[in-house]
Amino acid sequence: MSGTALVWFRRDFRLADNPALDHARGRHRRVVPVYVHDPESEGHWAPGAASRWWLHDALGDLDERLASRGSRLIVRAGETGGQLDELVRETGAVAVYWNRLYEPAIVERDRRIKRRLRRAGLEATGFRAAVLFEPWELQRDGSASSGGGPYKVFTPYWNRMQRDWRGVARRPEPRELPGVDPGIRSQTVESLGLLPDHPWPDSLAEHWEIGELAGRRRLGEFADDAVRHYHGRRDRPDRPGTSRLSPYLHFGHVSPAQAVAALSPSGELPGGRGPLAFVRELAWREFSTMLLHHFPETPDRPLQGRFEAFPWRKPDDYADDLHAWQRGRTGVPLVDAGMRELRATGWMHNRVRMVVASYLTKNLLIPWLEGARWFWDELVDADLANNTQGWQWTAGCGADAAPYFRVFNPELQAGRFDPDAAYIGRWCPELGGLGPKALARLGDDERRRRGYPAMRIDLKAGRERALAAYGRVSG
Ligand code: FAD
Repeated sequence: MSGTALVWFRRDFRLADNPALDHARGRHRRVVPVYVHDPESEGHWAPGAASRWWLHDALGDLDERLASRGSRLIVRAGETGGQLDELVRETGAVAVYWNRLYEPAIVERDRRIKRRLRRAGLEATGFRAAVLFEPWELQRDGSASSGGGPYKVFTPYWNRMQRDWRGVARRPEPRELPGVDPGIRSQTVESLGLLPDHPWPDSLAEHWEIGELAGRRRLGEFADDAVRHYHGRRDRPDRPGTSRLSPYLHFGHVSPAQAVAALSPSGELPGGRGPLAFVRELAWREFSTMLLHHFPETPDRPLQGRFEAFPWRKPDDYADDLHAWQRGRTGVPLVDAGMRELRATGWMHNRVRMVVASYLTKNLLIPWLEGARWFWDELVDADLANNTQGWQWTAGCGADAAPYFRVFNPELQAGRFDPDAAYIGRWCPELGGLGPKALARLGDDERRRRGYPAMRIDLKAGRERALAAYGRVSG
């Protein structure tokens, strides 16, 4: 056992199955857990408002979890490299360990820090913890000129993952951790100023319990029951059919290996349609991370270059429509229900995310980046890889994208996936008691009487305008 190691926590807020922590405590007498708040180093995709709200409680939870094992979290703010250097000096650390992240700005920052620490003679090592497969592991066979390289279509990627599945190994949860010298200064989480100064978080807090044990409970409950029906119910926003684990996975309260192991303790691919369908969704998460790694420009630019020339409407022209979309006042019930669910809870059902994104980019012809930025600020699970992939997929300009001519019809989607209009009634109470057919026939007088807005654009006309615009870049 050699001297002191820093464990640099970033978005891996758990004690169980934490490779960096496990490695440090197996090799070092003293372990100092550290969080450095440095949003500037994440560039223009630094965490949005809902993520900062979550992060505030996540840090508090991690500190409590560490304290329950005899340790504590050292919190610092400032330029990451400088802060780590200072902590190395203060603690006499000989090593720094962390779990890898894959956002382009973070990858660049981490590379710089790793080089600097190693030049200073320290051991500096990152571990795989946030994904089941590193983004560079599953690739199409062959050279770049013969079709090799990163997958751009999901199904062959998923087939490859199943073929190369190697089980999931988990690291044990420490029962005890070495104490941290009381002389090492830590800032309070409050001093990071993560919480917004308006009452929005009160509404979010009604819907989420933040932290490692809360995430594990949610996973346990899902694995005990709902997962058996997951394949049949996952598209129904009116039912609690999905896991709602996305923020816990994003912040690393739960690891993807733990999620698989909850369904299949041996670590093999689980049998049964529900569990396998769930692992397939985890594979979408892996696919998105892989794409972000290989195509780091995609958070700002379409993966398919021809969409650079897409004739989006101009900001002056679409400002009012964008605002109505953001506030859930478009006059399209399923779209408005989704946008209001997002505002109230920081989360939206996947099926509805697709519908609201299709409506924004196709019916309203507003650039997908406007939607991606709004989601970035509002989602508690805002994740650069998944959000980019979700928006580009729906807009038709990404990998494995829905073909440009696929314009979701929100009325048909509502009839199919919210057949009793229960979801719509929940989030648009002024429409309560109306079924999908009545909703589709809702006239202007009735809308006025109920205080519900008129449609901003006729769905059919919007669809035709979108097809004409997409026709100009398809080739
Ligand atoms: P479940 O159905 O229980 O799935 C389990 C896990 O698999 C999820 O928690 C998530 O980590 C992963 N997953 C599921 N579907 C997808 C998918 N399509 N792509 C990638 N991973 C997936 N997901 C985010 O985590 N963060 C985002 O910022 C995000 N933005 C999106 C934007 C758009 C426009 C769209 C269409 C989808 C977006 N998604 C995003 C994907 C998906 O909607 C959410 O992951 C899912 O709704 C989370 O709910 P859940 O945990 O109950 O999912």
